Amino acid sequence: MNIFQEVKERVTAKQVAERYGLKVERNGMACCPFHNDKHPSMKIDQNYYCFACGAKGDAVNYVAVLFGLSQFEAAKKIIEDFSLGIPIEQPKRKQNSGFKKIEKVPTKEERIQFVQKKIDGWARDAANVLLRYLRWMEFWKEFYKPETMEAEWHPLFAEALQNESKISYLVDLLMFGTGEEILNFSGMEGRR
Ligand SMILES: [Zn+2]
Repeated sequence: MNIFQEVKERVTAKQVAERYGLKVERNGMACCPFHNDKHPSMKIDQNYYCFACGAKGDAVNYVAVLFGLSQFEAAKKIIEDFSLGIPIEQPKRKQNSGFKKIEKVPTKEERIQFVQKKIDGWARDAANVLLRYLRWMEFWKEFYKPETMEAEWHPLFAEALQNESKISYLVDLLMFGTGEEILNFSGMEGRR
């Protein structure tokens, strides 16, 4: 049995309505609080029904409409106000739909934007590092260039030759690649 069923088992619509200020006649009729009712048009007992405006429901529903709460909040309010001692369990599956007091869950778009921002920031940082490295290689390539064909290559010259095109490719990828390419790149780098 869920908390809605338990609450309805324990209190009637009439009990909660009276508790929150509705005056119910002996014959079980009351002035409907959901429309401007001059003469009692609401029948209220276990459930309620208004013959004038058609409002109807049970105890939980009554409180929800009266106070502008979700069904869950309404049930919780009744449990507290009537000291019913029913353990309150947060609904798990429907957290996103209509339970106002639950902490705001980011939408899918917000999560995507968040991840995109992270990737952009990371790619920018990575590109900057690589660009600085690229500058060094350009410098090394000139500075450590062997003077003759036969001379031994300075290791930094070798490194520059070896890495320059690869690094400039990676810089391009980071600055102009799609999110997917960048992610693949970051995964690839991580494995080394
Ligand atoms: Zn009504």
